[in-house]
Amino acid sequence: MSWESSATYYKIINQYTNILLGSQNNAKSIMVTVNFDEIEKLQHADKWEEAAQILIKACKSLQNGGADFIVICTNTMHKLLPQIAPNIKIPFLHIAQTTAKEIVKDDIKKVLLLGTKFTMQEDFYKQILQNHDIEVVIPNQKDMDLIHKVIFDELCLGNIKQNSKDAFIDIINKIPDVKGVILGCTEIGMLINQNDVDIKVYDTTVIHAKEAVRMAVS
Ligand code: GLU
Repeated sequence: MSWESSATYYKIINQYTNILLGSQNNAKSIMVTVNFDEIEKLQHADKWEEAAQILIKACKSLQNGGADFIVICTNTMHKLLPQIAPNIKIPFLHIAQTTAKEIVKDDIKKVLLLGTKFTMQEDFYKQILQNHDIEVVIPNQKDMDLIHKVIFDELCLGNIKQNSKDAFIDIINKIPDVKGVILGCTEIGMLINQNDVDIKVYDTTVIHAKEAVRMAVS
C-alpha cells in the first residue's frame, strides 16, 4: 500500500522472475489490496490495533489461497508485524531486514532514512537497521513534516511534482557524512532514484520485490 507502489511491486516481481527464469516465466502470486483510505485514517487516528486486524484478515486470505510466504508492500505497516505474525502460519519477508542485508553487503555503516513519520520517528524500523550495526540518521522535524505530507498527499495518489523532488534532493544533500539513503517508503522511488543524488540509494520497493523473487525461486 498504497496501490501505486503495489503496482510497482507487481511489475518488478514479474519482470525479475522472467530475468531469472527466462522463457514466458512470471511469478505465480496472490495479491490482496486493502483500501488505503481506511488504513491511512486509522494510522493518523492512532488506531493501530484496528489496522492490524485488517492486515491479519488480508494475510489469512493469502495463507488460505496457498501462498508460501507474504510480502507486506509497505515499510510503515511493518510496525504491526509483531501483532500480525503470531496469527499467521506462513513466513513474512521483512522489508527492513532485507534492506539492512543489502546495506551490510555494501559495507555502509551510516544511512539517512526517509519514510513516513511513523517509520522515521519510531523505533520499529530503525531498531532492525541498528541491530545490523547500521547507524541511522533522520531529517529534522520540518523536513520530516514535508516528506510525510508529500507521501500521503502526492505520492500515494500518483502525483509526481518537480518541486517535491527538488525538496527531497535538498534534504538528502544537506545531511553530512552519510554514505547511503534508504527510500524507506515504497512510493519514494516514484520521485527519487540513483541518478538524482551522489550517495547510494536503497529503494526498499526494489530491494524487497527482488528478494521476494529470489526467495520464491529458491
Ligand atoms: N507505502 C508507504 C510506506 O512504505 C506509506 C504508506 C503506508 O502508510 O503504508 O511506508
